[in-house]
Amino acid sequence: MSAIEVIKRRLKEDRIPETPEELGRKKKRPREVAFMDVNLCFPCGKCPEFCPVQCIEYLRPGSVPGRGVQPVQDRFQECIGCYICVEVCSLLTDYDAIRMYDTSFVEEVLGVKVGDQPPEEPIPAQPYEEYFSEGGLYRHLGKGSRIREKMSAEERAIFARERARG
Ligand code: SF4
Ligand code: SF4
Repeated sequence: MSAIEVIKRRLKEDRIPETPEELGRKKKRPREVAFMDVNLCFPCGKCPEFCPVQCIEYLRPGSVPGRGVQPVQDRFQECIGCYICVEVCSLLTDYDAIRMYDTSFVEEVLGVKVGDQPPEEPIPAQPYEEYFSEGGLYRHLGKGSRIREKMSAEERAIFARERARG
């Protein structure tokens, strides 16, 4: 079993929104959506690889001043709230840069509506540094992972092996 399989299995046990095995598309308004702390993201490229709806992208050059390779952020209007990126960043990297935010709260903060379908045209991701980064107005404190404490020794060994491989 791979680390991503452990993550998916554990998230399903927690009744967190459905995580399609193959590339999916938003079908309902999620309860929460993800945001990356762009100041913590050292863009390792892992979360874009595992997002089941492929809504995580590298920010355009110059989006976060002073950064050469730009960090990633998701196009939150496409996010299905599955938590996979949170677990990937927390368990397979040293950065723990992603948190989930209540969708109604995000609508209020950003002055938008989040629907039950993705927008017809993708809306490019923004840094949202002033809201969802450390030192921003709303960054969640504490650890991101919901499953770390529940993993068996065997599952932990799988993560240790994958982390060691880089
Ligand atoms: S897994 Fe974390 S550090 Fe890696 S690209 Fe995603 S947010 Fe950035
Ligand atoms: S929670 Fe993360 S992995 Fe899941 S759809 Fe949203 S951005 Fe993608």
